[in-house]
Amino acid sequence: MLSQIDLEQISKILEISPGNFPVIISKKPITGISTDSRYIKPGEIFVALRGDKFDGHEFAEVAVEKGATALILDKKLSVLSTNEIPQFIVNNTLKAYQQIAQWWRNQFQIPIIAVTGSVGKTTTKELIAAVLSTAGKVHKSIGNYNNEIGVPKTLLELDHTHHYGVIEMAMRAKGEISLLTEITRPTIGVITNVGTAHIGRLGSQEAIAEAKCELLAQMSQDSIAILNHDNSLLLETASTFWQGKTITYGLEGGDLSGQLINPQTLRVEGKEFPLPLPGRHNALNYLAALAVAKVLDLDWTPLTEGLTVNLPSGRSRRHQLPNNILILDETYNAGLESMLAALQLLKETPGKRHIAVLGTMKELGERSPQFHHQVGKAVKDLGIDHLVVLVNDPQAEHIAAGADGVATSCFKTHQEVVNYLQGLIKSGDRILFKASNSVELNRVVNDLINSQ
Ligand code: ATP
Ligand code: MG
Repeated sequence: MLSQIDLEQISKILEISPGNFPVIISKKPITGISTDSRYIKPGEIFVALRGDKFDGHEFAEVAVEKGATALILDKKLSVLSTNEIPQFIVNNTLKAYQQIAQWWRNQFQIPIIAVTGSVGKTTTKELIAAVLSTAGKVHKSIGNYNNEIGVPKTLLELDHTHHYGVIEMAMRAKGEISLLTEITRPTIGVITNVGTAHIGRLGSQEAIAEAKCELLAQMSQDSIAILNHDNSLLLETASTFWQGKTITYGLEGGDLSGQLINPQTLRVEGKEFPLPLPGRHNALNYLAALAVAKVLDLDWTPLTEGLTVNLPSGRSRRHQLPNNILILDETYNAGLESMLAALQLLKETPGKRHIAVLGTMKELGERSPQFHHQVGKAVKDLGIDHLVVLVNDPQAEHIAAGADGVATSCFKTHQEVVNYLQGLIKSGDRILFKASNSVELNRVVNDLINSQ
């Protein structure tokens, strides 16, 4: 947590004059920094961010009432006396927030691991954090705080008791990872894969690969890159951006090469590791975490006994219902690669019948119908017994079309899906739920759990 800093230092970081604050004010200690007036604590600086829905400037007075020491604004607020509450006026408050976060990050000489990729960022971040926790205190991004606000927020919460930092970085457009890397200055950069997420905005997989590799282009040459060997486009693109030290990991080869000797066990360099999370995709994510441990010279022995990792909701979650019915809850998110991985996992989960309850994958642009069709085809090729599709969006109809020949039921509303499943499911069923978060398939999962 940002601390042991005063307003004079903030002026220096922001390169603006402290104005006419009396010395007593400019030396006033700051206990932290907040962008949310609902949670601000006395002694913290309030940064007024402008978003699509909110303008933080409207909450500055509330922040002051709650004890804010100073304000960072892009326009002066005349209702407040600057003498009592210093106002730092900057061109862009978000940039100021990021500058302070960058300065704070530079106060720490600990390994900082940045994780990006099309899918599996949060999962891999959690796995890396769990692995590093066997050796020291870890600070990690909370939930999915991975953007231009979430990354600085996470960095500002670093403190001197932490031994490691693990930061998730996401992007929706070119240039974003570059900025986040500049702020974070990672000592290790992990790229999980290059897929099709956000292809609607970026145009091609090559463009996505380049956007992910901004992490490498922006890292200092003494940092270490950890890359998924099994993703050839990633390796190819990375080589044009990065000449520094690299460790690749994979199930098909790589410097750190793993073999799944059964669905629950991964063998790496002669040692066997129980998988903290099920599925081949999670075995790959875990290999990334083992690679981080290797680079940092950590002892792998505690890991051979197993690790417990709890992911934020809707990812690799399992709900056991009465009557030996198992729900695989992947409702948090969906893209082409994660749909295919989750269907594979469903098929590999021992049970009597395998049922997939699917909905739309968002932001896939022109190729969206093709990708939805491909998901349907995977349902068919894997021999899934039953497909249920929430078709509250025309894209989802392509899933049903791709699964031609599979017993399929389509419904327009969540309630219809719930009613149908209540009549369909029986003992021994394994049921996967997956769609983009905004489809809210989690509502169906909750209703089913509550009705048992
Ligand atoms: P976001 O862009 O929303 O931050 P993310 O990259 O953090 O997503 P996760 O939240 O870790 O991704 O995982 C989302 C879903 O992707 C999981 O529920 C799982 O189904 C799937 N997934 C996780 N790792 C992989 C992987 N390596 N390959 C394919 N699918 C994966
Ligand atoms: Mg995430």
